[in-house]
Amino acid sequence: MAARVMIVGAGQAGFAAGAKLRQLGFEGSITMFGNEGVMPYQRPPLSKAYLLGKLEADRLSFRNETFFAEQDIKVLNNEPVLKIDRIDRQVVTTNDRFPYDNVILATGADPIRLPARMCEGITNIFYLRNKADADRLGAIMKPDTRLLVVGGGYIGLEVAAAARQAGAEVTLVEMSPRILNRVAAEPTADYFRTLHISKGVDIREGVGLRDLKPEGAAIKAVLDDDSSVIVDAVVAGIGVRPNTELAEAAGLKTDGGIVVDKFGCATDPHIWAAGDCASFIHNGEMIRIESVPHAIDQAEHVARNILGEATPYCPRPWFWSDQYQTKLQIAGFNRGYERAETLASANEGGLKVSYFKENTLIAVDCINDARGFMMAKRELGL
Ligand SMILES: Cc1cc2nc3c(=O)[nH]c(=O)nc-3n(C[C@H](O)[C@H](O)[C@H](O)COP(=O)(O)OP(=O)(O)OC[C@H]3O[C@@H](n4cnc5c(N)ncnc54)[C@H](O)[C@@H]3O)c2cc1C
Repeated sequence: MAARVMIVGAGQAGFAAGAKLRQLGFEGSITMFGNEGVMPYQRPPLSKAYLLGKLEADRLSFRNETFFAEQDIKVLNNEPVLKIDRIDRQVVTTNDRFPYDNVILATGADPIRLPARMCEGITNIFYLRNKADADRLGAIMKPDTRLLVVGGGYIGLEVAAAARQAGAEVTLVEMSPRILNRVAAEPTADYFRTLHISKGVDIREGVGLRDLKPEGAAIKAVLDDDSSVIVDAVVAGIGVRPNTELAEAAGLKTDGGIVVDKFGCATDPHIWAAGDCASFIHNGEMIRIESVPHAIDQAEHVARNILGEATPYCPRPWFWSDQYQTKLQIAGFNRGYERAETLASANEGGLKVSYFKENTLIAVDCINDARGFMMAKRELGL
């Protein structure tokens, strides 16, 4: 009997797993379940070129429908999976039950929402995870729109950059002492703070959002330092939560994500997980990585291992962010770094920040320095 693989989630990891299975010669059936009603597409442009209207919607798609037909990958893109029945080995949707031999959970993550009490009576609150979100947000990013961005991580900063380029007025609040506090060293944060201020963003660090109140058609945002800002819309980029509900309901182990072993297998030999939703042990700690290269790599590993290769997964992390004309490329994992060294790069306006732990280089941020990034990747063995 041909094997049946069901992929839950038609995003980056789901697409990569399905495509890889076929590339490796898998002849069984592949069904991909999505809940967005659109064919699998890439998310990074949603906070960059697409948000600015500089990239057509059809350019977001990984491949056109012909590809999926040729590869014999069935994409049910409006068929959310409601349950995994591990006893009868079936994936359950509202419409049907689909017997499986292997399931790949590639359910991604959803934005953390602002507390409900803050949002009462206010409509113009936005999050940015999917194409529908970007379409809604893009529509209000016009000259003179007053926008409050909550959160100074990569999503918040990219939205701020796009909004300024669209002519909107932007205030950005970050409750940590500085922007990029969780993900980058001070010199990188300093670079981006200076850049955003030079473009007219009002950055408020070390101050949280306390409350939102309707004020006519506008919104009054009250901050922790008792100051307030009147805006037309609020966009929150305050992190994501992995989509683990299906796995939890099926009795699989979760720990800040769906727990997988070094092969990408969850706590059931027929169920696997990859991408933003998966937690795994790396250097002795449980981690989850939210990035495109990781989603692809881990999903492709799962595909290999389903076919019996038994290759352990070792992440080769890298990431990028585009803000205005500036490109940040990050190689490696800076977690637990003890010191960061800064070096002006050969390019004008370029900067390289190297992270060390026990005197070993563990990660590098390269700003406007593509060559430095290639070298860093090589040096880190990525
Ligand atoms: C705006 C934005 C910008 C980004 N920019 C960058 C960047 O510059 N560089 C970078 O490396 N990374 C970036 N990322 C992160 C990157 O896009 C993610 O890490 C990557 O998409 C993760 O892939 P995934 O397949 O795990 O999840 P996703 O791509 O989110 O796919 C998960 C899919 O599963 C669906 N789903 C969930 N539950 C169910 C269910 N029960 N049934 C059916 N379907 C379900 C979801 O709706 C979604 O479509 C960005 C993310 C966003 C949102």
